[in-house]
Amino acid sequence: MSTGTADTAEESAPADDQSEQQEPREPETALETARRQLEHAAVHLDVDPGVVERLKHPTTVHRVAVPLERDDGSVEVFTGYRAQHDDVRGPYKGGLRFHPHVSEEECVGLSMWMTWKCAVMDLPFGGGKGGVIVDPKQLSETEKEKLTRRFAEELRKFVGPKKDIPAPDMGTDAQTMAWFMDAYSMQEGETIPGVVTGKPPVVGGTEGREEAPGRSVALVVREAADYYDYDLDGLTVAVQGYGSVGANAARLLDDWGADVVSVSDTGGAVYAEDGLDTHAIPSFSEEPNAVTGYAADTDGAHLLDDGNDILELDVDVLIPAAVGNVITVDNADAVRADIVVEGANGPTTFAADEILAERGVHVIPDILANAGGVTASYFEWLQDINRRTWTIEEVRSELEAEMLKAWNAVRTEVEDKDITWRDAAYVVALGRIAEAKSVRGLWP
Ligand code: GLU
Repeated sequence: MSTGTADTAEESAPADDQSEQQEPREPETALETARRQLEHAAVHLDVDPGVVERLKHPTTVHRVAVPLERDDGSVEVFTGYRAQHDDVRGPYKGGLRFHPHVSEEECVGLSMWMTWKCAVMDLPFGGGKGGVIVDPKQLSETEKEKLTRRFAEELRKFVGPKKDIPAPDMGTDAQTMAWFMDAYSMQEGETIPGVVTGKPPVVGGTEGREEAPGRSVALVVREAADYYDYDLDGLTVAVQGYGSVGANAARLLDDWGADVVSVSDTGGAVYAEDGLDTHAIPSFSEEPNAVTGYAADTDGAHLLDDGNDILELDVDVLIPAAVGNVITVDNADAVRADIVVEGANGPTTFAADEILAERGVHVIPDILANAGGVTASYFEWLQDINRRTWTIEEVRSELEAEMLKAWNAVRTEVEDKDITWRDAAYVVALGRIAEAKSVRGLWP
């Protein structure tokens, strides 16, 4: 996400700003980055320019007012969005954010990434993203529930299991999805679990959804290490962000023999030369900002002077798994990892990406690496439609199979066209979307 740019002029630019005509500059919004990445990759594909032009614009952006009666009786009106980018391959799919930096432009950019993410995974979905401009930490549990239910009601006409299927994202979780599903179902007069994914398993969620983005990151690290001839045993890894994605990825890699030498949260970054005990460090949802405490209590571990120094450690693999726009022109030259695997959405700016590519750093993009989340969401949607639950073993093994299929499709493009992993992932995604658009045609 682009929280780092939230108060810049770029962030408030209109969604149809023709940013592709401007010189690359920083800071970038999610939409600018997404459009530049699309153009960059389109060069490598024999694709109808009309298709590329259509993909630069979302189909629709819904903007809704969400009134809320606070616990003290006062009334506040929040603004919510749902950007629906493209649905040529299936219903719109993507998360809902509760965050003070949510904006229309950010939702559009993130919805474009969802279109590519679903296509690179060959899921029968398009891309959507939405959110409410709110700091959920300032809301009580009751207020959060009321806000979610009213937001669900305002979006009711635009979502549905065959239209647009939201999911958790920053500031929202399984409980938020349960409230959303309940509000939608009550108004529709029947229980419709497939309207959202990422629900608690007891109301139609799937086992393994929560761990899935981190698991896919770990699987991609494993494949990338193998591809570039690194031994997974003793592979040195640094993970920025110890939320669900970062902690799950770090723990799996630790279990598989890698040395996770550094992890960070908003409180700081801990480093241990011989590797950290990742299971002993609580993730952000287990205990916020636990990294500092672990560093203080553990022999051989110490805090880095500055938490952001984690991005510049001399490690084999760096996993930025916190927020967007953390690798920029200001620090891209200082990144010393050989491989960057993107756990967050949009952690590398377009300009930083070019610097890393020139320096020979292999960047495995978010739309492949963290796609385990939406892939598990697809499994959940299938279970909701079929009214049949899968075991955690089924979810894990299907997820691994889908990730390997996508990895191999992207790898083939890297090798055939001698392009970056990001361009290759876009080529795979764009090829599938363009073919679907050409077969369906442009109407009228
Ligand atoms: N918010 C997640 C993402 O960025 C998952 C979306 C989903 O499951 O639909 O990939």
